[in-house]
Amino acid sequence: MSETFKTKVLIIGSGPAGYTAAIYAARANLEPLQVLGREPGGQLTITTDVENYPGFADPIQGPWLMEQMKAQAEHVGTKTVHDMIVDIDLSKRPFIAKGESGNTYIGETVIISTGAKARWLGVTGEDEYRGFGASACATCDGFFYKNQHVAVIGGGNSAVEEALFLTNFASKVTLIHRRDELRAEKIAQDRLFAHEKVEVIWDSVVEEMVGTTNEHGVKSLTGLKLNNVKTNEKSTLDVDGVFIAIGHDPATELFKGKLDMDKEGYIIKAPDSTATKIAGVYAAGDVTDKVYRQAVTAAGMGCMAALEADRFLAEHGVSESSKAA
Ligand code: NDP
Repeated sequence: MSETFKTKVLIIGSGPAGYTAAIYAARANLEPLQVLGREPGGQLTITTDVENYPGFADPIQGPWLMEQMKAQAEHVGTKTVHDMIVDIDLSKRPFIAKGESGNTYIGETVIISTGAKARWLGVTGEDEYRGFGASACATCDGFFYKNQHVAVIGGGNSAVEEALFLTNFASKVTLIHRRDELRAEKIAQDRLFAHEKVEVIWDSVVEEMVGTTNEHGVKSLTGLKLNNVKTNEKSTLDVDGVFIAIGHDPATELFKGKLDMDKEGYIIKAPDSTATKIAGVYAAGDVTDKVYRQAVTAAGMGCMAALEADRFLAEHGVSESSKAA
């Protein structure tokens, strides 16, 4: 049977931004309710070793980190619900969201932390070697490729930034782009072309990722099958790792026409704040951030959103219709 939940702070999404917002809101006695979404834990649940989340001297596992965040949020008083929000009315307070379960969630404030997803190529072998040589985050995984040869796919600012970042570890970085010019900013391109460790393969697409499996059953990527789209020439490039940097898609479909977004669909928030254009609605983490995209920056924004929601409720109280109910 469907239920109706009322809360002062409705948190949508369960990555580091959502859980951190939940922890702060719960500790402010706001009794938050967090709707976890279809993939609780978000992008970190598909990574392995995490070495850049502060507080852990030894590498930790992404899925474990997210379980800990969930447990911490619950221990301090967050109610978590396994559901997926499929509709939301932000036209007036309280805000009303519908879950695919049929449940209704009524929030005096809303914190949107639905995240973003890295785009993948969708080629043969990609799923098999994801986490075993194929990655969509150089900042997260670059460190594991010391003195090795890695490839980066893409021609935008992310690809160029990731390629340059990877030169800090790798012995060689090959950027593979499907056209004969990059779309990254000129200054970044100049730095890329000037770097002695970087080589660019133009007009080429990856058709397949190939690799081996050792005696313990552990897979590792060994190469990429390429096709030159102009000459149709096929080749194989031996690499130890490949970083896909062809863009991200923020999970903002639900908010189209309701909140301001940039042309790529990221929610626009006020500077130095997580406030959206609707008072009482906040956006935190990758759903609003296409530059940093780190667990720790998302967590920081989750904290900001909860503090801002708390301040908003202190100033405005609960809505008239909630008082009457
Ligand atoms: P972009 O959309 O800018 O670039 C994506 C790149 O991937 C393009 O070169 C595109 O090729 C290529 N691509 C897309 N799909 C495929 C595919 N299926 N196969 C092969 N190649 C593909 O994404 P970014 O993540 O680089 O950047 C997103 C936004 O964030 C941009 O506005 C960017 O400027 C910004 N950004 C800013 C940074 C900064 O200011 N420091 C850092 C990182 C990002 P093609 O060019 O042919 O379309």
